[in-house]
Amino acid sequence: MNNSPLSDLLSPLQLEHAARCIEQAQSIAIITHQNPDGDALGSSLAMRHFLLSLGKHTVTNIVPTSFPDFLAWLPGLDSVIQYEQQPEAAAAALREADLVICTDLGESTRVAALSPVLTERFDSYTASRTSVNSANSALLIIDHHLSRVCTDQPEQIAYPECASASELVFRLAYQLGKLSLTPDFATCIYTGMMTDTGNFSYNSCHPEMYSIIAMLLTTGINKDTIYDRVFNAWNADRMRLVGYCLYHKMKLFPEYRTALITLNRREMYRFNAKSGDMEGIVNMPLQIKDIYYSVFMREDKIPPHQIPDAGGAKVKAKISFRSQGDRPVNKLAHEVFRGGGHMNASGGEYFGSVDEAAQKFIETMPRYMQKE
Ligand code: 5GP
Ligand code: MN
Repeated sequence: MNNSPLSDLLSPLQLEHAARCIEQAQSIAIITHQNPDGDALGSSLAMRHFLLSLGKHTVTNIVPTSFPDFLAWLPGLDSVIQYEQQPEAAAAALREADLVICTDLGESTRVAALSPVLTERFDSYTASRTSVNSANSALLIIDHHLSRVCTDQPEQIAYPECASASELVFRLAYQLGKLSLTPDFATCIYTGMMTDTGNFSYNSCHPEMYSIIAMLLTTGINKDTIYDRVFNAWNADRMRLVGYCLYHKMKLFPEYRTALITLNRREMYRFNAKSGDMEGIVNMPLQIKDIYYSVFMREDKIPPHQIPDAGGAKVKAKISFRSQGDRPVNKLAHEVFRGGGHMNASGGEYFGSVDEAAQKFIETMPRYMQKE
């Protein structure tokens, strides 16, 4: 009888591929998605701790853009290369590694300016399947976005039904029989599981999640402290910004059970808002009874790598979509705002001002939001 508290989610083929890639690699680069959140950083740093515990010495973590202050304490974060600060080092690490591991990331396009380099790695991996000359091409994808589901390609550990990529990293280590439960590893995994489920308030009914948490807690980590560091870390400006958003900026469309909040650059400047400060605002209107969809738009400058695609626009709207229950928002994000994501949490963007993006959203809302 199998007494394991976890089912064998990952297939033997996936485990064999991962084990072989890791064993053969001398240098390993780990990369996660742009604007990394708790799961992106948690999963990629947990992977780092796992590889170090296996005796892999040359492990480089890369993040494409900056990360929020409320995650800056995560163990291992001080060794991360941030592309915006060290562009050459980040690109070189990605190009030269024997093995590239993507965590919480399934698309080579969601890594800001590193997208051409990662696309090259994806392409050379695909080519290596058919060619003998496969130097510098090993690849492992650990992801839970809907855009990527497991195929028969063993490098893709891609399970949208899993609430976090961090859980998948844990399962990989566990199923390989190489789990080394240290406080640093456990802290990173717990942070990713906690943040991608809103502190276990959505996507959080699978009993095995709690078996994993029970194992993590045996390392002595304090989950309440982790919660406190992540969720009780606001500054006063952010508190006032939230008040402003909810009082002045929230528009309700009761017929479509939808709330919309926009922030332009002037407003963000007024509240001294950095990107992490806006994290979570999109979830708040869902606390209103009978509001099932929430949309948050903020205005950003167009980064240099997107200027050729921006059609002359000076700014872009970065958009977050959230919903509750069986009401997908990823289709709207994908079809109208060149994005994607999960059924209940997606994002996209629009080249132009937030007012223009809001107009576009209001026009398309009847096609995507269920009237109830
Ligand atoms: P957030 O609203 O927190 O930025 O993103 C929520 C989720 O939407 C992310 O976990 C990611 O899956 C997805 N997402 C956000 N922005 C984009 C985007 O520009 N493109 C795609 N494909 N997915 C996105
Ligand atoms: Mn995630």
